Amino acid sequence: MELRDPSLLREAALVAGHWIESRPKSGRTIFNPATGDAVGRVPEVSDIQVNEAIDAAVVAQRAWARVTAGRRAEILRHWYQLILENKDDLALIMTLEQGKPLAEAAGEIQYGASYVLWFAEEARRLYGEIIPGHQEDKRLLVIRQPVGVVAAITPWNFPCAMITRKVAPALAAGCAVVLKPAEQTPFSAIALAVLAERAGLPTALFSVVTGNAVEIGGVMTSSQKIRKLTFTGSTAIGALLYGQCAPTIKKLSLELGGNAPFIVFDDADLNVAVEAAILAKFRNNGQTCVCANRIYVQKNIYDKFSEAFSERVQELSVGNGLDPNVLLGPLIDERALLKVEGHIADACNNGAEILVGGKRHKQGRLFFEPTVLKGVTAQMRITHEETFGPVAPIIRFDTEDEAISVANDTEFGLAAYFCTNDASRVFRVSEALECGIVGVNTGAVSTAEAPFGGRGMSGIGREGSRHGIEDYTELKYICVGSV
Ligand code: ADP
Repeated sequence: MELRDPSLLREAALVAGHWIESRPKSGRTIFNPATGDAVGRVPEVSDIQVNEAIDAAVVAQRAWARVTAGRRAEILRHWYQLILENKDDLALIMTLEQGKPLAEAAGEIQYGASYVLWFAEEARRLYGEIIPGHQEDKRLLVIRQPVGVVAAITPWNFPCAMITRKVAPALAAGCAVVLKPAEQTPFSAIALAVLAERAGLPTALFSVVTGNAVEIGGVMTSSQKIRKLTFTGSTAIGALLYGQCAPTIKKLSLELGGNAPFIVFDDADLNVAVEAAILAKFRNNGQTCVCANRIYVQKNIYDKFSEAFSERVQELSVGNGLDPNVLLGPLIDERALLKVEGHIADACNNGAEILVGGKRHKQGRLFFEPTVLKGVTAQMRITHEETFGPVAPIIRFDTEDEAISVANDTEFGLAAYFCTNDASRVFRVSEALECGIVGVNTGAVSTAEAPFGGRGMSGIGREGSRHGIEDYTELKYICVGSV
């Protein structure tokens, strides 16, 4: 399979409007997780170059903030169109470096692009307020202004959408962005930057710096010129970066880990519950922060659900994402595989039973069999830690109160799902779940129109919706008087 436009797979970083090409003996090689083959090389951007990107962004951002929202929207819409026109190439690049099946990658490009369009539209709706004055001569106005230069650090599981969710609202609001993509998936980020440049985005407003995460993160977080850090990744690194941002009092958005419960009540439609659980558990091979991590099933429907769900899981084909029949690709790396194996071993040693899968896939390398575990209890690691892989533990519960209590028994609070046909339960349970996102009778909740984000150890801030652009603005209050 070949790229229609090979120039999209660019082995270079974009620093302050200049492309820094990778050189044969330096930089980092990116490997395809399905085959182990090299996809290409990216340069190691130095501290000096990161600072150059930041300095140029400061200048570019000042000018960009003065551009009308309508003009900013126009450029973003052009970027959106170019992303869609190059959807097949972008999907192929993503499958090569990340492993997800081509159709799923194309779906992510479409989804990622939808944030660009959405925020192009929202750019023109960054309304302020006029507040009734507290004295006869006083008029109180509130306006929203861009925070300034933003640093973005993104993960490998959604190599396109995690970037557009951040970069599009930032640019729409009048900010500049210096992005450090995940080391495993830089090419998707670089291709987006190539297209942004073609869309006419002014020079230096969007830099993509590849290289050592600790070093680049250190420069970004310690720079006084960076006024906001937006990060998606693990809670441990999020907490570290939160601390690193404290001395320069940056604004922060953190999208961190989850431990999503998926609750099936007795009164649920069994088919809906099974399909929603498959979607919520196995999307991206279980490697999303909103993936169902623990499936709680009420006692009267437990055996029936486990059986129907297991049958569906057996249909999920595993292999190289370039094969159109494949539904689940490889895991991202060996560390991910070891975590999955560790969770299964711990559950089995403590009495869980494997209904489906349970071991490395015969395809070898980083492939793992989609797995269903029965008889899982609250004492097992798998109910407390995010597995981030294709393992579905099924846990029995008795009453609604018990389900809510176990679902909330976690320091994370990103997504939760439940299935029921009882309308009063829909509201009661939705309100009782301590998290940022609730899916009712569905396993697919993410969309540009809605606020995505969590509470507790799952993070700070929201992406998508009108709130997603507000996070890139500062409020300014203007008091007009006569004395
Ligand atoms: P994961 O374990 O899923 O890879 P991480 O939180 O380690 O999640 O990675 C998410 C992003 O954070 C990636 O872009 C990674 O390179 C980056 N990252 C990891 N460690 C650091 C660090 N110390 N400073 C800055 N960025 C980091």
